[in-house]
Amino acid sequence: MSRFLSEKYASLVPYTPGEQPRDAQYIKLNTNESPFPPSPGVVAAAEREARRVNLYSDPECKLLKDAAAKLYGVEPQNVLPVNGSDEILYFAFLAFGDEQNPFAFADISYGFYPVYAQFCKVPNREIPLTSDFSIDYRDYLGLSEQILIANPNAPTGTCLPLWQIEEIVRANPDRVVIIDEAYIDFGGESCVPLTKRYDNLLVIQTFSKSRSLAGARLGFGIGCEALIRDLNTVKYSINPYNVNRMTQAAGVAAIEDDAYYREKAQTIMRVREETTEQLCALGFTVLPSTANFVFAKSDRLSGEELYQSLKSRGVLVRHFTKERIKDFCRITIGTREQMQTLITTIQAILAEKGSSR
Ligand code: PMP
Repeated sequence: MSRFLSEKYASLVPYTPGEQPRDAQYIKLNTNESPFPPSPGVVAAAEREARRVNLYSDPECKLLKDAAAKLYGVEPQNVLPVNGSDEILYFAFLAFGDEQNPFAFADISYGFYPVYAQFCKVPNREIPLTSDFSIDYRDYLGLSEQILIANPNAPTGTCLPLWQIEEIVRANPDRVVIIDEAYIDFGGESCVPLTKRYDNLLVIQTFSKSRSLAGARLGFGIGCEALIRDLNTVKYSINPYNVNRMTQAAGVAAIEDDAYYREKAQTIMRVREETTEQLCALGFTVLPSTANFVFAKSDRLSGEELYQSLKSRGVLVRHFTKERIKDFCRITIGTREQMQTLITTIQAILAEKGSSR
């Protein structure tokens, strides 16, 4: 820390992103990216737009907003495109959080939530997951905080059904309920349609996972017009050109190529089920996942041991040191070939451990 850093950040503990090694020697199963490239239409659109980067991007994101509104079955004024869904989380903490309006979220969830809370000076309360690592929706009824739920949750992968989300939204009419649907395209049911009936529901979506655009940074907020207007007030006070030209064009093309991405999501779901079976056969406990990752615990290796042994053999997974989940690793679902390598590598690690007993 330099002697110039503002006092207000002295105790800030920033978010630690998953490793992004610069060489290609790893099978990357650590940051929940899609293993599939973007569709050819997306690449062509981004390349075309790259020729115009001397001009600012459209701050309104008009074409992208119109396309996204159609995709989500809402009106353009219900949509706010953002620079990755992380950005709308930040906007939401700024817009809806303060000393009088704290946030509540699960004790085991996306690690950025407590960081934004701290950064934005929003008090927060962590609601423990149940003993089987799921969210009990009854813990979220009639709260005195704004509510933020990742559904499916990360890093656990478990998902609440739509009716439970609706119960939460209905039981907190004077609270903003934010549902982060980063992983919803891998088997969950989106609550976007509920935004038409509830003015306190904000849904967050991203193109980073199911639409192979993690590196382009594109997310969306979807909610009633007034909520989106509040978020726009924050956006236009921070960074009006928040979504760059290439990403806006890529986003429109990705929506046009919807069928391509749906098929890829189906493949990932199939491979997820195969991987789960194989891990269980090797003595792992695997939480039921509705996401593009599984959260798994070996009966013979600690989470740290599994992470390190895999890394030294060229496979990257994510390990969290938080006490409650330190026995687990979060494993992104890659291609069938990548997952086969994961399984044979784990077999080798277990065999080596067995012979050294
Ligand atoms: N929400 C959840 C639950 C996530 O896991 C992630 C990915 N790290 C994000 C939001 C942010 O994704 P992005 O900013 O790439 O849209």
